[in-house]
Amino acid sequence: MSRYDIADWDATVDTIKNAQRIAIACHVNPDGDALGSLLGTSLALRSLGKTTYPTWGSEPVVPPPSLMFMPGADSLVPSPAIPDDIDLVVALDCGAAHRLGTVEKLALASDPLINIDHHPGNDEFGTLNVVVDFASSTAEIVAFLLKDVGVELDHDIATCLYTGVVTDTGRFQYGNSSPETLRLAADLLSYGVQAPQIALEVFESAPFTYLKLLGRVLERASLLEEQRFVYSWITRKDLKETGVGADETDLLIDAVRATRDADVAAIFKEQKDGNYRVSLRSKSGPDSPPVSVGEIARAYGGGGHELAAGYTAPDVESAVKGILKHLVDRPES
Ligand code: 5GP
Ligand code: MN
Repeated sequence: MSRYDIADWDATVDTIKNAQRIAIACHVNPDGDALGSLLGTSLALRSLGKTTYPTWGSEPVVPPPSLMFMPGADSLVPSPAIPDDIDLVVALDCGAAHRLGTVEKLALASDPLINIDHHPGNDEFGTLNVVVDFASSTAEIVAFLLKDVGVELDHDIATCLYTGVVTDTGRFQYGNSSPETLRLAADLLSYGVQAPQIALEVFESAPFTYLKLLGRVLERASLLEEQRFVYSWITRKDLKETGVGADETDLLIDAVRATRDADVAAIFKEQKDGNYRVSLRSKSGPDSPPVSVGEIARAYGGGGHELAAGYTAPDVESAVKGILKHLVDRPES
């Protein structure tokens, strides 16, 4: 029986079973779920004797420091090293094909191309699509898919998948953490996953200078009381002066969103090319329906989930204006 009632589920299981040389790619600048799904899938398929090429389409193909501990991190290959004679491409955690970055072309040229994802509005760019928008994480979908493929989970595979689940659920605190999610997490722990160690690596291993960067972010945070919107930003100069890497800034948004006086939070991060990456988060109060930041991000060419989304904007001022346009017409809470 197809899990989640996904039409392509069984064909996806068969296609993975029948493939031998498999390229696997997650979205550019991967987070814990993208990387956990990628390495978990790669290790699992290798355990079945398959050859895998795990990669993503942005430079460098090296995990951020907080995810360097992940099993299989040493097996990543740069995307140009993927040979021509692969017989399957698997895309993970990509809401749209362009999230594959430089791997997009190779992926779209492949038949079969399996698209496994949990972003609402996924444009189903695969020849087979396993899109489960109520799943906590892509890692959760992958865990069930691998079981149906006949993979015996082990400590390393379970560690990758658990990392994906724990990061995308905000340590099991968001609404996407279902009873099924928690049962899966419990199952993964039974393979000897060191949950406290993972928490330490992912959430409490930033360099001391990160605290200084966080200080700047909190100091310049602005609250628009009426719109219940809080935002802050970092520049390339901030990174240079504090010595914090761009790939060590994922948790800043969690500090910005921590006020009860806002239910939409944004952080703007200046990129090398002068544009800003926008990270948006939304939360629902006890009485108010949540603002869909996914909708806002899609309006500006990005995407994501209802409560966590992102896009690219030319500058902070116009980005704030653009977001506010979507916050003025909110129903009274
Ligand atoms: P974050 O703010 O952590 O970078 O991203 C939050 C969520 O939005 C993640 O699920 C991420 O995959 C998605 N997301 C971020 N930026 C983009 C984007 O430019 N396009 C799309 N389609 N999704 C994005
Ligand atoms: Mn995800």
